[in-house]
Amino acid sequence: MTRTAVVAGGAGFLGSHLCERLLADGWQVFCVDNFVTGSPENVAHLVGDAFRLVEADVTAGPPAIEGQVDAVLNLASPASPADYLELPLETLRVGSEGTRHLLDLAREKGARFVLASTSETYGDPLVHPQPETYWGNVNPVGPRSVYDEAKRYAEAITMAYRRTHGVDTGIVRIFNTYGPRMRAHDGRAVPTFIRQALDQQPITVAGDGSQTRSLCYVPDLIDGIVRMAESEVAGPVNLGNQEEISVLRLAEWIRELTGSTSDIVHVPRPTDDPSLRRPDTAKAREELGWTARFTTERGLIETIDWFRTRLDTGLQGLQL
Ligand code: NAD
Repeated sequence: MTRTAVVAGGAGFLGSHLCERLLADGWQVFCVDNFVTGSPENVAHLVGDAFRLVEADVTAGPPAIEGQVDAVLNLASPASPADYLELPLETLRVGSEGTRHLLDLAREKGARFVLASTSETYGDPLVHPQPETYWGNVNPVGPRSVYDEAKRYAEAITMAYRRTHGVDTGIVRIFNTYGPRMRAHDGRAVPTFIRQALDQQPITVAGDGSQTRSLCYVPDLIDGIVRMAESEVAGPVNLGNQEEISVLRLAEWIRELTGSTSDIVHVPRPTDDPSLRRPDTAKAREELGWTARFTTERGLIETIDWFRTRLDTGLQGLQL
């Protein structure tokens, strides 16, 4: 029998890849989005019998979905620091009220609920790499707290619905993920550096660039979310690539791979920017049989190709 999924935030970067994957796996998909940081264009190629795009703000109430639902996958939230710093109250509301409404939908339908949480729940970590047992080092009153604390609350209410109402829930903590359909101006390092390199503009590295990130290529991450949706694992489970590189090395690498002559320049580091980021993924391996398979080099090459095509054909990607 065909299974049905509701993907909240499905018109965003990760959500659109998740919708694509679920359709390929034979699911029927309701994509719910208010397009605050996503776009109908990301899923326009999917619209058809098995795919419905529902324009709705999940903070207004549980989305109206008729019929059986097997999984509610909550990816709705601004995710790039540039976006959530511009939308602080919306970010808090979607993490709190939005998550509650989607939990209510899962409860009403008897569906599995998966929360897309984040490595930001670890804040600027004092333990490295970060296992799920680490409780984090988050500044609750800094500018980034609107995102970090909203996600920590989202985790808390997810566990409360599990314990109180018996909802079948799972939490994944996603580490930095990149790939096609990121917006060139969303402020995250990979699209920013690629856009700057392809435009032969200076590549802007925050601080001295010694801070590290572990970058997961989008198909790997989506595979982890699908495994979580199809399991009974409660989590939280880290999903991320274990290859850790400095932001300066990332800039140099993108410059090499694009064949760019851009200079690398240094700009001030944002407040509370984490210094180190690498997931401990032992739990994902043991409980979901998941590990990231794409090397960072392969993912970067494919992502650069995607951005280059959009630049060559004058498509919107680089203007967004
Ligand atoms: P994105 O901004 O591209 O996608 C988020 C989507 O949610 C957008 O389509 C947006 O319009 C939608 N949305 C936001 N508020 C909404 C609301 N109130 N009602 C309905 N829809 C709403 O971001 P992304 O990178 O695709 O991230 C998706 C999810 O994964 C987010 O929850 C994010 O916190 C989480 N995550 C992403 C990363 C990453 O590296 N990309 C890392 C950690 C966690």
